[in-house]
Amino acid sequence: MNVITNRPFRVSENTDLAEGIFGLRLEPADGLPVFGFNPGQFVMLHLLQPDGSIWAKAAYSIASAPSESKSSIELAVKLKKDFTHRMHELKIGDEVRIQGPFGRFNFPEGTRPVVVLAGGIGITPFRSMIRNELNLGTGRKIGLVYSCKTAEAMPYLEEFRSLADSHPNFEAVLSLTGYAPEGWSGKIGRINPDTWSKLAANQDNPDYFACGSPEFVRDMAGLLEKTGVDVTLRLHKEMF
Ligand SMILES: Cc1cc2nc3c(=O)[nH]c(=O)nc-3n(C[C@H](O)[C@H](O)[C@H](O)COP(=O)(O)OP(=O)(O)OC[C@H]3O[C@@H](n4cnc5c(N)ncnc54)[C@H](O)[C@@H]3O)c2cc1C
Repeated sequence: MNVITNRPFRVSENTDLAEGIFGLRLEPADGLPVFGFNPGQFVMLHLLQPDGSIWAKAAYSIASAPSESKSSIELAVKLKKDFTHRMHELKIGDEVRIQGPFGRFNFPEGTRPVVVLAGGIGITPFRSMIRNELNLGTGRKIGLVYSCKTAEAMPYLEEFRSLADSHPNFEAVLSLTGYAPEGWSGKIGRINPDTWSKLAANQDNPDYFACGSPEFVRDMAGLLEKTGVDVTLRLHKEMF
């Protein structure tokens, strides 16, 4: 079990990852290594007032894999209201507090295949889980169905394409609900069971994972149920 800590971290990168989505890299400001965490876990990020007291906090899934997070962690954040706009204004060297890790959203032990359904910014815990699994080289079959409005608003698009090209056990179906650029090779339209039925992972009684807005996760659960999946037992969910 990972120990929950509350420590100062410093911003070492703040970059735009996609339209309306930015990435933060945070490194410990106390000189110690990053805390231990499991892929899929989240932290509470505390924004501070100029006097160092806490202004407000919110939950963010760690987007980097544990093995790639010894000296820093990565978050991917969708710009929404006050809190995320203030986060976006953070400069290199600015301090925040990070409390965590929390949560139990992770692939089951062993190598049972998984089908992962991500809506928009709901991709963040999956990036950590998928990178971790592929780094470990377990050979587990992973099918990712990832839907965003447009290709411009899809963080990690090229990364998932290249991971799929270099790992035969990982397939990615990228899907857009809005405008698709010319030559788009992925899917267009809303996700439905056809979108994932042909994935190799889906042929072997997989576990399903869904993450995104409450509406997205509810829709995915409804679709899975209609195809006969026991969602109480086989669907793992996280809602943002
Ligand atoms: C497990 C989990 C994982 C998540 N992972 C991610 C992720 O990876 N990426 C992502 O983008 N989102 C993630 N979210 C959603 C995230 O936690 C926030 O809900 C979201 O970023 C809110 O953004 P906002 O700008 O609308 O927040 P706001 O609604 O502006 O603020 C959030 C909180 O900040 C405080 N606050 C805001 N304004 C003020 C103010 N003026 N004065 C004082 N306090 C204020 C309030 O307490 C408010 O509840 C996750 C949520 C959960 C539950």
